[in-house]
Amino acid sequence: MTTATDTIHAYGAQAADQALAPLRITRRAPGAHDVQIAIAYCGVCHSDLHQVRAEWAGTLYPCVPGHEIVGRVTAVGPHVSGFAPGDLVGVGCIVDSCRHCAECEDGLENYCDQMVGTYNGPTPDAPGHTLGGYSQQIVVDERYVLRVRHPEAQLAAVAPLLCAGITTYSPLRHWKVGPGHKVGVVGIGGLGHMGIKLARAMGAHVVAFTTSPSKREAAKALGAHEVVVSRDRGEMKAHAKSLDFILNTVAAPHDLDAFLALLRRDGTMALVGAPATPHPPSNVFNLIMKRRSLAGSLIGGIAETQEMLDFCAERGIVADIEMIRAGQINDAYERMLTGDVKYRFVIDCASLAQ
Ligand code: NAP
Ligand code: ZN
Ligand code: ZN
Repeated sequence: MTTATDTIHAYGAQAADQALAPLRITRRAPGAHDVQIAIAYCGVCHSDLHQVRAEWAGTLYPCVPGHEIVGRVTAVGPHVSGFAPGDLVGVGCIVDSCRHCAECEDGLENYCDQMVGTYNGPTPDAPGHTLGGYSQQIVVDERYVLRVRHPEAQLAAVAPLLCAGITTYSPLRHWKVGPGHKVGVVGIGGLGHMGIKLARAMGAHVVAFTTSPSKREAAKALGAHEVVVSRDRGEMKAHAKSLDFILNTVAAPHDLDAFLALLRRDGTMALVGAPATPHPPSNVFNLIMKRRSLAGSLIGGIAETQEMLDFCAERGIVADIEMIRAGQINDAYERMLTGDVKYRFVIDCASLAQ
């Protein structure tokens, strides 16, 4: 069923070179398997900025970003079994996938070739591509809806877990980070600050790498055992050949060799940052001499996202956020580019109607 409901308020861009502005959108009426969600809060990911400004290929306009969505269920379709009106829920980066490929069957919808992103993905709904969480309401198939078990008072700070949380949790789990491991987290932004909290909660010895000396104390408060200012050669050298795993979240091209040299034998650096242009090529000798690996990781599957949310709820882990009104989003993007956020902006979606 694709009958449109009334128009709702949203915030988005009409072109790559235009600021985000208020607009009206429609959502489908809930189909048999759909959950309709009143969005309370939506986190602001650097990927939103990359996409709305067409820094990656394929942005469709109007573009309504937002894939760190939390809110309350307002209606469910007749075949929905897992959710009921009133439930606290989340929606992350994925709202559909093919459901039958090897990746979908393994619970890795994030690697399905037909994964549908929460915005900018194909859909029969108007306007022909998905529209994200900078909006009042969303309708999503229950297969892609997550249950939030944190107290409601923490709901705004839970929102960033839906992307920043799972994007850091998934590689930390895949590479089996735990007690006895020395783990580096590079770039202390939205993703990086969650990477520190999660690696610490998994029992690792955590070293934070930042270009911002002003974040030194803050990174320790987040849970880092040590903090390295990555532009300081001496501080970097002190960690040479010592790290088991590095999670690199930096949103801009940079010298990967400086970090590969810090891995011990058989160590891995996983890139999750996705800059608009490539990193400078790295020196193969930095890989072969110690059998090191350079890898990548994309968000996480639905089951693992639920596992991450429950892991965080049990331990009281949430993001450190700065709440904004929708009308502040363009200013927030500029501040994100200069690293002036501790550590995630979250939009109060009630402000969309005002
Ligand atoms: P963010 O909040 O802007 O944090 C990025 C951090 O990178 C900054 O805080 C900064 O940390 C560091 N940095 C160093 N030099 C930089 C530069 N020239 N420009 C920008 N940042 C620089 O971004 P985020 O939301 O964490 O996202 C980080 C990257 O991950 C983005 O490219 C985003 O698109 C990507 N991402 C990927 C996935 C995935 O599935 N793989 C998911 C979500 C996001 P310091 O000040 O500590 O140096
Ligand atoms: Zn994201
Ligand atoms: Zn699939």
